[in-house]
Amino acid sequence: MARSNRQGMGTRLIHGGEPKERVFGAAVVPTFRGTVYEVATEMAWKDIPYPRLSNSPNHTVLHGKLASVSATEEALVTSSGMSAITTSLLALAGGGHILAQKTLYGGSHGALSAVLPRLGISSSRVDITKPETWKSALRSDTRVFYVETIANPLMEIGDLAAVVEFAKDHGLTPIVDNTFGSPINFRPSEWGFELEVHSATKYLNGHSDLVAGALMGTKEAVNRVRDLLNYLGGVLDPTLCAQLHRGMQTLEVRVQRQNDTALALASFLEAHPRVERVLYPGLESNASYARAQQYLDGAGGVLSVELHGEADTARRVVENLSIAINGPSLGGPETLVTRPATTSHASLSPKERLECGVSDRLIRISVGLEESQDIVEDWKNALGS
Ligand code: PLP
Repeated sequence: MARSNRQGMGTRLIHGGEPKERVFGAAVVPTFRGTVYEVATEMAWKDIPYPRLSNSPNHTVLHGKLASVSATEEALVTSSGMSAITTSLLALAGGGHILAQKTLYGGSHGALSAVLPRLGISSSRVDITKPETWKSALRSDTRVFYVETIANPLMEIGDLAAVVEFAKDHGLTPIVDNTFGSPINFRPSEWGFELEVHSATKYLNGHSDLVAGALMGTKEAVNRVRDLLNYLGGVLDPTLCAQLHRGMQTLEVRVQRQNDTALALASFLEAHPRVERVLYPGLESNASYARAQQYLDGAGGVLSVELHGEADTARRVVENLSIAINGPSLGGPETLVTRPATTSHASLSPKERLECGVSDRLIRISVGLEESQDIVEDWKNALGS
C-alpha cells in the first residue's frame, strides 16, 4: 500500500498510503461510513474490519499516509491528541514511571500530574535543556522519556538527540509530542524516537474543523498502543479519518507559509519598543536558535510575546487586534492569539505557571494563512504605532 519513502514530502502527502487499485476508479478514496463488514473466511477478531478497531478502509489509507510522511513503520489515529498521548503513556509506561519535560502542553501536564498517578503511573519532571540533571530523576521503574519538539508556550527546544541517547542508554522508550513541529519541520524517526504523538486537530488537519490525534513510530510501539486503544475505545470515526486525510494533503504548503509568516511577525515584534521579549526559535536572538537550526527545517507557525506593562496591557492589545481571532488553538488557516495563563495553562496553579515560565502577560500567536503583511499590520495597529 504505502509507497516509497524516497519520494518527496509533497508527493508522499498526496500519494502515500493510497490504494494502488482505485475504488471504482475514484481519485479520492470514498468515505466508508458503515460499521459492518462481511467476514468471508475464518478471521482473527482483530482482523475483522470494524471502525472501533481502527481498521476501516479510511483508517488503513490514513495510517499508510501518516507512516509514509513520518518515515515510520506504523501509524494510528485516535479521537483526540489527548487520547493519543494518554493511551500511548498508558501502553508504554503502564505501572511504571515517566521522565518528562518540565514545561508541557497544559493537558499533558495535567494528565501526568493529576490523572496518571491515580492509575499507578508516576512521573518526574526535568529541565530539557540540561541533560546533566536527568540521571538523578531516573528510577528503577522508569519506562518512558516524554518531551515536546517545541515546548508550548515558551517555544523552547530541548536537546532532542540527547533525549534519544539517554533513553536508549537507560532502556526507556523516547516519545515526542510533535504537534508544534509537524512532519514538515521535524521528523522524530530520523533522530531515533520510537514514537511521535500529535494533536491532529492542529497542523495535520489544518482547518480548525475537527478533533483528532495521531501517533507514528515503530511497529512494536504502535502495536502496543493499538492493543490498548482497542479496549479503551478512543478511536477516530471513519468520516473524520476521511476529513483528516483531505486536510493533510496540503500540510507542506501550509506549514511552509506559516513558518515564513511567523518569522516575519517575530522579527517585527522583536524590534518594537512596546515589546519586552519575543519567544520564537527562528530568531537568532532566541536561546533555542541553534537547536532549531540543528533539528528543524522551519521554526513553526507559533510564537509567544511579552509586552512591557501589566497583564491588562496584554489583554487590551489582544482586544485591539482585528484580523487575529482571540482563541486558544493553533495550526489552522486563521491567525489565533491567546493568553495561555487563561486558556491552555489555566488548569495549572499560579505557582506551577510561574515555575514553567508562563506569565499572565504572555501572549501566544498561531499565524494562519492570511497575507503575511496584513498580519504584521494588524499587530502594528494593535500596538498603536
Ligand atoms: N499536544 C499539544 C502540544 C497541544 O497543543 C494540544 C492541544 O492544544 C494537545 C496535545 C491536545 O490535543 P487535542 O486538543 O487534540 O486533544
